[in-house]
Amino acid sequence: MFKCKKCHSSDKFELMFNPEYQGSCTFEYQYTLNNDIKITVDGYTFIPDLSFMNRHAVCKYCGSINSWDYE
Ligand SMILES: [Zn+2]
Repeated sequence: MFKCKKCHSSDKFELMFNPEYQGSCTFEYQYTLNNDIKITVDGYTFIPDLSFMNRHAVCKYCGSINSWDYE
């Protein structure tokens, strides 16, 4: 799980996209056996890490961009 460095909310991955993201934002997720979240965006499946979050995810609580840490 990830935590916003600005408002300290944890996001269980109701990820919002960086406004510059150009894809269609078709988004779904599921959990792996290890309880990691696995995301599929526009047909591309991956397990997000901190660098992904800090490149693409916007905090839905405070709107901060690229301000994540591991919880
Ligand atoms: Zn925040």
